Amino acid sequence: MQTFSPSRPFGCTNREVSVVGQGTWNLEAGDRPSAIATLRRGLDLGMTHIDTAEMYGSGAAEQLVGEAIAGRRGEVFLVSKVLPHNASRTGTISACEKSLKRLRTDHLDCYLLHWRGQYRLEDTIAAFEQLHSDGKILSWGVSNFDVSDLEEIAAISEDMACNQVLYHVKERAIEHAVIPWCQRHGVAVVAYSPFGQGDFPAPKSAGWRVLEEIGAVHGATPRQVALRFLLRNAMTFTIPKAATPEHVSENAGASALPLSDAEIARIDAALPRGPRRRGLPML
Ligand code: NAP
Repeated sequence: MQTFSPSRPFGCTNREVSVVGQGTWNLEAGDRPSAIATLRRGLDLGMTHIDTAEMYGSGAAEQLVGEAIAGRRGEVFLVSKVLPHNASRTGTISACEKSLKRLRTDHLDCYLLHWRGQYRLEDTIAAFEQLHSDGKILSWGVSNFDVSDLEEIAAISEDMACNQVLYHVKERAIEHAVIPWCQRHGVAVVAYSPFGQGDFPAPKSAGWRVLEEIGAVHGATPRQVALRFLLRNAMTFTIPKAATPEHVSENAGASALPLSDAEIARIDAALPRGPRRRGLPML
């Protein structure tokens, strides 16, 4: 049986971060008071790792997060992302300052390049280093980076904290090379869209039945079992997005779920990772 802690060290940051955090893409699209109450409920439940981006709602998600964490900033490991078309040396600094304003804070705990774009990685990293020495970000990382891109970063700097990538029980491509690379280099892997953004195993499908049967042993739901499966590697974190207190409470419950090696092997067989493919899947 794997022992399980609700938080673990986040890459090279020397910070303990909640393994199940909260995503915020499209959170601004629904009922605002309910979204804010949901984020706060998540904080109450220890889901203090909050992921957002300047892209989400063109800044509206960051504004919503800023409102939700007002008065509770010290509890939060706050992550935001710069869009590739803003990720020049000066553009990254200006984008970060705008994010800080919308988030009503003076620093981010981690700042990510959302995906690789036209600017040289050296320039974006130089901006991250500047932001770091100015105290505006405490660490930096990337998102949607395949192994070849990660190698390029590693040749420039050893300070990359994380790689945020698509990972759910029906999309396990990163297990072939990205997770092993991150594990070797001490880089945290943050699983985005852990419910496949709607592409979760359908009720009554073979995969669902296995998740349900294992959940029944532990008094857990299929989604809790699926989240916990993604966290079986010591480098991984996940950031499901929830817009209701019921959903966020269910997701929080994944942190404490013990899974045996036999149960993990059963999920692995029912929802196989599939063969190695060309390129990294992303949304
Ligand atoms: P997701 O977390 O895989 O799925 C969100 C969907 O699952 C929503 O419809 C949500 O419904 C539903 N849900 C959540 N908890 C549930 C529960 N317990 N029971 C039933 N349904 C539940 O999708 P995502 O938003 O794409 O991914 C999560 C986060 O990852 C994003 O919000 C974002 O922060 C990040 N992300 C990053 C990238 C990147 O390129 N770096 C790309 C995509 C996502 P409700 O909304 O109704 O609760």
